[in-house]
Amino acid sequence: MAGEPQSDCLFCKIVSGDIPATIVRESETTVAFRDINPQAPTHVLVIPKVHYPDAASLAAAEPLIAADVLREAGEVAADEKVDGSGYRIILNTGSGAGQTVFHAHAHVLGGRGLQWPPG
Ligand code: IMP
Repeated sequence: MAGEPQSDCLFCKIVSGDIPATIVRESETTVAFRDINPQAPTHVLVIPKVHYPDAASLAAAEPLIAADVLREAGEVAADEKVDGSGYRIILNTGSGAGQTVFHAHAHVLGGRGLQWPPG
C-alpha cells in the first residue's frame, strides 16, 4: 500500500531502527540523519517516515508531510548554523539525476562554498 514500509528499503529500516544512523532531528512525520558519505561539512538527509519513492510522489500523496520535510530541512540548517552562510536542499529524482535510494529524501548541504549550476 502507498506509504507503507517496504521490507527492501534502506531508509524504511532507518525509520524502524533496524539499521543504525546518526539521527540529528526527529518529528512525528520525519527523521533527519547524517549522510554516510558526506559531500560537505554539513550533509544531512531528511526523510518522511512514510515510504514514497521520491519527493514528487510524496508531495502528490501527502503534501503536508512533504512540507514537514522542507521545514525540518530548514531547522537542520539552523541547528547546524549554516543558515546564515547559505545552504542547499537537494531532491535527486530518478537514477539519471543521481538518486540511489528510492525513499523520498532531501539532502541538506552546507558549510562550504556551493557551485552553480550543480554537476
Ligand atoms: P541519493 O543519491 O539522492 O539517492 O542519496 C542517497 C544518499 O544516501 C547518498 O548520499 C548516500 O551516501 C546516503 N546513504 C546511503 N546509505 C546510507 C546509510 O546507511 N546512512 C546514511 N546515509 C546513507
